[in-house]
Amino acid sequence: MSTRIGFIGLGNMGGPMAANLVKAGHEVLGFDLSEAALGALEAAGGKRAASVAELAAAADVVVSMLPAGAHVRKIYMEEGGILENAKPGTILIDSSTIDVDSARAVASAAAEKGMSMVDAPVSGGVGGATAGTLTFMVGGPDEAFAKAKPYLDIMGKNIVHAGGAGNGQAAKICNNMILGISMIAVSEAFVLAERLGLDAQKLFDISSTASGQCWSLTSYCPVPGPVPTSPANNDYKPGFAAEMMLKDLKLAQEAAGSAGAATPLGAEASVLYDVFCKNGGQGSDFSAIVNFLRGTR
Ligand code: NAD
Repeated sequence: MSTRIGFIGLGNMGGPMAANLVKAGHEVLGFDLSEAALGALEAAGGKRAASVAELAAAADVVVSMLPAGAHVRKIYMEEGGILENAKPGTILIDSSTIDVDSARAVASAAAEKGMSMVDAPVSGGVGGATAGTLTFMVGGPDEAFAKAKPYLDIMGKNIVHAGGAGNGQAAKICNNMILGISMIAVSEAFVLAERLGLDAQKLFDISSTASGQCWSLTSYCPVPGPVPTSPANNDYKPGFAAEMMLKDLKLAQEAAGSAGAATPLGAEASVLYDVFCKNGGQGSDFSAIVNFLRGTR
């Protein structure tokens, strides 16, 4: 059955996600500040809305894919926004990666209006968005999850219900905090090995089957050679850009501050990625931090 879906934020991720909803036979009405993004949606078979208000009033389902919490609060909660204009019962899905507090504030305002909302941030990047193979980490009540799932199934492959409102964002930033810290740990070990005269391949062969084993080592090795598909073998082209890692580490620090959790290594990782991004790391894959730690970048 065809549903009318409003899609706000048709950028690198939102554009291909919206195109997959069109391909699945849904009527997609899009809104973005960028003319090029709207043109791309039309080329993919969608239609443009003149405003957020028009889109919200017409849609049965709204999906948003915006840069940060401030954009999401504005689009949903301000005058002329989604909550003011959508019908009660509209299904709301925010897939942006944003702070947990904003996700919970918007979800609670939506519930007051009788709308069912989930936060559903993704991993999988532009490749996953295009192929429809994203992983969605979903926060919200069971009923809202059940209503959103058929649409998430079109855009993704793994759909995980992480608990109540905000828990999708919580899962995303906790996972990426592990990733940021572990990439630094693996990078430091390779730099130390170099200084000690231990060959990178030898360290890989030993640690990948020993207690140092982790995804940053075995799937995304930060030095060229041991894992041929890792960005290290492609001049550190992203992949997952260093500035995106920095964004997620900052969100984790914000959440740790507001929840009173001690995350000293998360804090240090955030500082290191910040310095790295300000010193030539921006635009590189996040694993290029190995060159920064070695002092060659
Ligand atoms: P992007 O900058 O390419 O797209 C964002 C879009 O939102 C742009 O087209 C912009 O014009 C639009 N926009 C901004 N403010 C708006 C407003 N007020 N009204 C309407 N449109 C507005 O960003 P992206 O790479 O698509 O990322 C989107 C979200 O997905 C971010 O939260 C990001 O952290 C997350 N994410 C991105 C990736 C990735 O690999 N790019 C991976 C996982 C998660």
